[in-house]
Amino acid sequence: MVQRALPTLQTFFLTDPRWPDVVAALEAEPCSAYVLGSDLSLLYVNAAWGTFARNNGAPALADGWRTLGPIQRWITQPDLQAFFRMRLSGTLSRDRGWSHTYECSSPYVYRKFHLHATPGPGRQGIVVVHSLVAELPRANHAPDDLIAEFTDARGLIVRCAACGRTARPGRPDVWEWAPGLDAQPNISTGICSICSVQEYGFPLERA
Ligand SMILES: [Zn+2]
Repeated sequence: MVQRALPTLQTFFLTDPRWPDVVAALEAEPCSAYVLGSDLSLLYVNAAWGTFARNNGAPALADGWRTLGPIQRWITQPDLQAFFRMRLSGTLSRDRGWSHTYECSSPYVYRKFHLHATPGPGRQGIVVVHSLVAELPRANHAPDDLIAEFTDARGLIVRCAACGRTARPGRPDVWEWAPGLDAQPNISTGICSICSVQEYGFPLERA
């Protein structure tokens, strides 16, 4: 694999002399990996990031990652924005790694990933690696009336990232088991009221 040079702007933030070795290791890593600054904006992405973006219908992210802004802005649901902001920022403030397993499926492929975040050299950035845990094909056959019933006013079906239950539109605390909906293209990931405490460790404020 050809190693790419860090752009000048990003190198400016990563002055610790150990960073080149870290970046060389990330560049050879087959999983998507990147470095976040203290404001959780991307300072660097590895080659596998671009490959994953192109293979999953998001070619603009392969080259346009510098314009994405802080990582929490990539996430639709406010609950999860707060969760990732707190946990990732905590790796720098507490100088400790953090791991999290989550589902990120497409309409026809079930995928589970393991995120591992660690403070980088000099605590100048957070090194994040997303490893693929499982990838399985799946069928897509939900009845139309069920899709309509669970699609909210924004046109989204909100599914809990931890337990897979689906949010009932207009009822913020009602989450139900609705088989088949998880393969819809308008799925958005959220976190249900039970899992926010059980799996994620704290109750999240709801809008
Ligand atoms: Zn849940």
